[in-house]
Amino acid sequence: MRAVDDLIAEGVSGRRVLVRTDLNVPLDKETGAITDDGRIRASLPTLQALRDAGARVIVAAHLGRPKGAPDPKFSLAPVAARLGELLGTTVPLAADVAGDDARAKAGALADGDVLLLENVRFEAAETSKDDAERGELAERLAALAELYVDDAFGAVHRKHASVYDVAARLPHAAGRLVARELDVLTRLTTDPDRPYVVVLGGSKVSDKLAVIEALLPKVDRLLVGGGMCFTFLAAQGHGVGGSLLEADQVDTCRRLLAEAGDRIVLPVDIVAATAFSAEAETRVVPVEEIPDGLMGLDVGPRTVEVFGSALGNARTVFWNGPMGVFELAPFQAGTRGVASAVAAVDGLSVVGGGDSAAAVRQLGLDEEAYGHISTGGGASLEYLEGRELPGLAVLADRSGT
Ligand code: ADP
Ligand code: MG
Repeated sequence: MRAVDDLIAEGVSGRRVLVRTDLNVPLDKETGAITDDGRIRASLPTLQALRDAGARVIVAAHLGRPKGAPDPKFSLAPVAARLGELLGTTVPLAADVAGDDARAKAGALADGDVLLLENVRFEAAETSKDDAERGELAERLAALAELYVDDAFGAVHRKHASVYDVAARLPHAAGRLVARELDVLTRLTTDPDRPYVVVLGGSKVSDKLAVIEALLPKVDRLLVGGGMCFTFLAAQGHGVGGSLLEADQVDTCRRLLAEAGDRIVLPVDIVAATAFSAEAETRVVPVEEIPDGLMGLDVGPRTVEVFGSALGNARTVFWNGPMGVFELAPFQAGTRGVASAVAAVDGLSVVGGGDSAAAVRQLGLDEEAYGHISTGGGASLEYLEGRELPGLAVLADRSGT
């Protein structure tokens, strides 16, 4: 796989380079303001390196899930403004993805300029299952530039026009962010220092069963918290009250527990609440005694200790998924406690997942204390599962370059 720095070494001055980046930042529902610009900042090294080398940079990105048509709610306008501030330049926004305005603005770029295309998901073809539909959009995108760089790690698991099909149509390379993410994930999958501990949380166990299956043979401990722990607790025969439960996954969880022996570690206590609300009454209960009327919204303090001691001597840690509903103050302590224990690891600690990374920042933890905070949740999980990621496979293909 070629790197953007290889392209730069070959010379990009005056050449138009299409860069797919992941600028899918969370926006405040009321004001539309960017609430966390982590992904924009993560995109800077590649963009700056290309500018410094005199490239004419055309950035393609998506935001949210518009329904395949322009929708002002999902415009990249606030992102263009923030990107411009961070780069110290003006970043114009094309009015379309790869239409007349994008062509005109791309043609008018000077060396070192940066143009942002409008949200690629304003075109239904971007996410289409139909190769020909995606191909038509990819042709228009490819026509804007001479070279393609994929730096959108958070999207490499998607077979989308701007990720997959366009790469097949232009000489291509991986951006610095993609390279760094791959470097870290490779360290997790090839001979990690032991003990190797994985911490999983978040809301849906069904989303993460495949990664649990794939990781179990490789890890020394798998700590399970968050909403997904209740399906495991139910598999052990505990009542879980009104907590999140995926009844159709209980048998699978029971089998995994039997296979894993003591390698799967479950919570011992739970913060149970009367409602999914910051105003709810809460009570810490042992997992054997979750009352029928209450729902578990965080792991309890004894669990933080148990998980903390499993992490205490770990040399490699991957953490994905908050331990509780950290968005609400009464249910933050579990995530904060586990996040602190992960930060204290003497070795490689990796945080993956949009909400987990947001939790680290929102709870005021020191980002620098982690070995790596991944910008891609789904992408890093699929990589750890050992699946082929379309966006990476196409970059590895050197034919036509
Ligand atoms: P990530 O984005 O890091 O991969 P997920 O998207 O899987 O994480 O899960 C994050 C969500 O899980 C958060 O919004 C959090 O509120 C929710 N969550 C965590 N614990 C619980 C719980 N006990 N009950 C309901 N939701 C939970
Ligand atoms: Mg999430």
